Amino acid sequence: MRDQALPSSTLTEQEIQIRQRATAFVFIGMPTLIYFSIVAALDQDWPLTILACATATVVIISYIALWRNVSSYRAIRPAVVSQTILLLYLVTFSGPEHARGLWFLSLPLFSIMLLPPREGGIWALGSTIIAIFLMLDAASIEGGTAYSTAYVIRFSIVSLLISGVVLWSEMLLHRYRERLEGQNAALAAERDRLEHEIIQRTALEEELRYLATTDPLTGLLNRRAFMTALADEITRSKRLHSRFTLLMLDIDHFKVVNDTYGHPAGDAVLAHLSGLMAEQLRSIDRLARIGGEEFAILLVDTSAEAAATVIERLLVAIRNKPTSHPETGKAIAITASIGCTESKAEDNEQSALVRADRALYAAKLAGRDQHCWR
Ligand code: GH3
Ligand code: MG
Ligand code: MG
Repeated sequence: MRDQALPSSTLTEQEIQIRQRATAFVFIGMPTLIYFSIVAALDQDWPLTILACATATVVIISYIALWRNVSSYRAIRPAVVSQTILLLYLVTFSGPEHARGLWFLSLPLFSIMLLPPREGGIWALGSTIIAIFLMLDAASIEGGTAYSTAYVIRFSIVSLLISGVVLWSEMLLHRYRERLEGQNAALAAERDRLEHEIIQRTALEEELRYLATTDPLTGLLNRRAFMTALADEITRSKRLHSRFTLLMLDIDHFKVVNDTYGHPAGDAVLAHLSGLMAEQLRSIDRLARIGGEEFAILLVDTSAEAAATVIERLLVAIRNKPTSHPETGKAIAITASIGCTESKAEDNEQSALVRADRALYAAKLAGRDQHCWR
């Protein structure tokens, strides 16, 4: 992963930090390198001029590569190498008072801060050892300036000290970042878990609401949900001064159906009848199974006159569309009786239901397979 080109959108926090650091080093280092090149050219020190210009070029290319999403460390390594070569050259040809050689002390900073800390530390240590050998040997190199042993010792100690401090702080930062990333991952996992739980609970709530309001055999509203719908319609009709019609429907001699065809066939009749009634009603009407073989129908915003055709249609459909026996396929014909009532201004749920119930009783007494009004 490290050594492949990365799209900028997938940059890690660490890679963003490396880019920021590289920018800081380039803004400080480039003017210095250009200054070095000019001074060296004026002094006609052509090897140093060429080396400084080459280093500046490599640094610029590395920097551009870094921003063109070549993996961070791969882009940076050539710049570190060329900068190291330049610094080792300056240690060897350090000039009067070894002033140029002191630039070498900047090496641990950029090697450890731009490369992986351990790799940068090893690089700084190795370069320091080479620098020490070059210092000890400088007198025998043509153009080199001899170092005293005391200078080499102090130089080495300072270089190692800088390397150690920078490495230590980088390691701490690395560990801190790892811990932070761990915490972030744990937070993300917890957030995912909570989201999942919310989805599950919402689904469960939906299911519970369905179970609490629905009759399992027919899928119609149950008594409780119907009472709520009725109360709402009473409130609405009072506010709008409109009327509704309430029907109570009961299957005739249903006990005989059960006794003749069996209880499962009776269940099939109830399910078939529910579908049949739903077909005859508008989607705004409310249909509920409120007892064993008893149904309630709320014809919303419908007067008695308007309801008459619906009621007739219901009775005809029930009479003429028998259920087929779930096992034998044999037709099971039934009829039903309907008690009807139109809403009154002073109505509440109970009063409307009592009237509809009385009407149903009257329809049964009158011979069934018919409707009555109260
Ligand atoms: P009526 O014309 O007077 O209404 O006569 P009926 O036989 O329909 O009335 P009754 O109240 O005597 O009997 C109702 C029957 O409905 C009795 C019961 O076994 C049956 N029943 C109630 N709930 C269910 C059910 O969920 N499934 C089945 N298969 N039968 C049911
Ligand atoms: Mg009954
Ligand atoms: Mg009945």
